[in-house]
Amino acid sequence: MLSTGFFGGRELSEKCAVFGAYGVTEAARAAFYGLWALQHRGQESSGIVSADGMRLYRHTGTGLVANAYHEEDLEQLAGHVAIGHNRYSTSGGAGDHHSQPFWDRDLQFAFAHNGNLPTTDKLARFLETKKISTERLNDSAMMAAAIRYFISQGKDIGKAVIAAFPLFEGAFSAVAMTPHTLVAFRDHCGIRPLVIGQLGDGYIIASETCALDTIGATFLQEVRPGQMVIIDSDGIRTRQITPGRSKLDIFEFVYFARPDSKIMGRSVNEVRENFGKQLAREYPLRADMVIPVPDSAIPAAQGYARASGLPLEMALIKNRYIHRTFIRPTAALRERDLQMKLNPIPEVINNKRVIIVDDSIVRGTTTKKIVRMVRQAGAREVHVLISSPPVKYPDFYGINTPVQKDLIAARMSVKEITAHMGADSLNYLSYDGMIKATSLPADAFSTSCFNGVYPVAIGERAKEFVKL
Ligand code: AMP
Repeated sequence: MLSTGFFGGRELSEKCAVFGAYGVTEAARAAFYGLWALQHRGQESSGIVSADGMRLYRHTGTGLVANAYHEEDLEQLAGHVAIGHNRYSTSGGAGDHHSQPFWDRDLQFAFAHNGNLPTTDKLARFLETKKISTERLNDSAMMAAAIRYFISQGKDIGKAVIAAFPLFEGAFSAVAMTPHTLVAFRDHCGIRPLVIGQLGDGYIIASETCALDTIGATFLQEVRPGQMVIIDSDGIRTRQITPGRSKLDIFEFVYFARPDSKIMGRSVNEVRENFGKQLAREYPLRADMVIPVPDSAIPAAQGYARASGLPLEMALIKNRYIHRTFIRPTAALRERDLQMKLNPIPEVINNKRVIIVDDSIVRGTTTKKIVRMVRQAGAREVHVLISSPPVKYPDFYGINTPVQKDLIAARMSVKEITAHMGADSLNYLSYDGMIKATSLPADAFSTSCFNGVYPVAIGERAKEFVKL
């Protein structure tokens, strides 16, 4: 058996951030700031592997990027090549050993993955035929083990990725490295974003363009669906491993991505504003003000306010310093979990007819608490607008939404949800309205959480939901 202990325990890999730098002075420092800009994609842990042409160096830590590294950690991450990863909170536990990038110091190989493989049957069978135990490996660790296997057989990293690629079934935007080469590759549907930038004579790979802006890199192009990028001392080359067709997860526009990022040539902020403008066309409500649920719904609320002429009021204040804490709240404080994050300004809301705009309803917990909070702050009428359609289907591509029975829109009609929330009205953006707001064709997207159509095979997991 090959040792697979480097590749961590079994847990889901989810919405995460990946980053890569090649030919950049102090590449680990660029990775640190890039990962910091991508903090919204994962707060569980962060890790960087760097290389100085001779050997690899690795540091991982739990929590936010700002807390996971100290100056001396970055100093020991020597070299001009680096990859990095932020991990999203999942059921797998917060232990440091779950952190990516995975690495194999002896083979001088490291790997990091954003996305999720809903089915790993083919990959697991392959690894088992090679006497590699998959017992403790999650999907990302299995991907790393397959590429590692081909490198151990004498292939260079590019050829190893090409050999392993057909074993990967699912959503992946990944980076990998050896001391002399950085590669990045994306599944044939490009479900999760991945971009290439230039920094001086070097190159950057990042989940989102906001990370390029942060470190002063210029955007070159997206890694195309099904494409691999190889960067080494000969420069940058792309190779189409398999025919690709874009099926970007539209939830990137709805919720995940930072508004200052661009995806598929579209400003995320502008698309979200368009969601709001479209909501104003679909639901021209009588009210005194529009209030966003910060931060993700701010652009949509802005769009609604502009299109309707109603004032935008930032009457829900978010504590911006909230992050995973290891101080246990009392039972009474746990009850107030949302108040710890959000607090209304009664003077603005009192006796007013308010429209609350949020980007999505998943379980329904947040919206229900917000409606109650806003009423307690004195609102006369509370209307809720959601800048995406009802989430009725589970996600298998790395969003970490719950099972179908926990999705409120899979169990209740809009009328029932409205009553459950205690709102005067509740309305969702139409599916067609959402697509129109992106100015991109519907078939450029995966919209599985809204319509249950899964563009990448999900194998046995198709049994986990019913079509509604
Ligand atoms: P819920 O309380 O389960 O209905 O969650 C809805 C809220 O969570 C919304 O305010 C969204 O901004 C946010 N949200 C939506 N999708 C996700 C996700 N995958 N992970 C974390 N938060 C999310």
